[in-house]
Amino acid sequence: MEFIDHELIIVGAGPAGLCAALYAGRSEMDVVMLEAGIPGGQLLLTELVDDYPGLEDVGGMELAQKMVDHAAKFGVEMTRGQVQKITRDDEGRFLAEVDDGTVYRAPAVVYTAGGTPKRLGVPGEEKFMGKGVTYCAICDGAFFKGEDIAVIGGGDSAAEEGEFLTRYGSSVTLIHRRGELRAQAVLQRRFLENPKSKTIFHTVVDEILGDEKGVTGLALRNVETGETSELSVTGVFIFIGFTPNVDVIGEHVGHDASGYIETDRDMRTSIPGLFVAGDVRSQLVRQITTAVGDATTAVFAAEKYLLDLKEQRDERETSSERAQEAQTA
Ligand code: NAP
Repeated sequence: MEFIDHELIIVGAGPAGLCAALYAGRSEMDVVMLEAGIPGGQLLLTELVDDYPGLEDVGGMELAQKMVDHAAKFGVEMTRGQVQKITRDDEGRFLAEVDDGTVYRAPAVVYTAGGTPKRLGVPGEEKFMGKGVTYCAICDGAFFKGEDIAVIGGGDSAAEEGEFLTRYGSSVTLIHRRGELRAQAVLQRRFLENPKSKTIFHTVVDEILGDEKGVTGLALRNVETGETSELSVTGVFIFIGFTPNVDVIGEHVGHDASGYIETDRDMRTSIPGLFVAGDVRSQLVRQITTAVGDATTAVFAAEKYLLDLKEQRDERETSSERAQEAQTA
């Protein structure tokens, strides 16, 4: 087994990982940033970012590229590698094994692996995935030009991506299981004020219907009355939240009821040396701004942790040298 040693491993290259890379590079740490896909994380799925201070309106991909360039300016570039598991050796060092078998080894990890879109879990979802069922408006919205689209969910993603989809669809119907959206007021307003938007509340999807060409509609059920109905759509965009990517962590780490990793104020987890930032972390909101803020804290905390480790090691070495000297004297 080949080991590649570093001071710090950053897992993930979304906004949190890229910001962690920037600060680790700037602090001249010996760091590797591992990412399975293209750097940018959820930014790559976001058309327009309008809430990043100083950049009033910036494309998600453009902001991702700026972050990549900024990290590279401080000497950190992404290393391609899908982390399969993270374990620890007898000395407490982390071993991050990637898909080609390489094992990256370091005494500290900043884990920013984000999450994956949740599945609705209804009949037709798997069958029509890529044939009308999708989880990414930016990637797939343009395929539904002039067609009727459904958006499932009531959070920020559903409202924001729903509004984005109105530029393509002839109608965008948001279907939500409750009577009110949980999305931020500004995102709700933008969606609801759009003439192409419609809403169906208190309603769940029982089945995604289709034929050999793809999706043709949805079987719906009102959760209050039990009344069933069908909605004719060809595109179904599902935005019902994320599942945090925590499965690769090979030992128990403190998490909340939804599986997001809990940290203290310095982004320390229940595993010494493991720091967490971004969407995978248990927190009130998941914004680009919170991801980069927490990643900044995580890197400084990791740096301090490494310094403490070094001091402890030096102290141990000094006292064992003294003990040896005393024995020989
Ligand atoms: P979210 O906030 O967790 O909302 C998920 C929505 O889907 C909720 O309305 C939920 O209903 C509904 N839902 C969950 N499971 C469902 C199911 N099985 N069937 C039907 N509906 C279901 O997820 P999100 O909107 O993807 O946002 C994730 C995070 O990213 C949030 O922290 C959000 O603030 C952030 N975000 C921010 C922005 C922005 O600021 N521009 C944009 C996108 C995302 P209930 O309401 O009944 O629970």
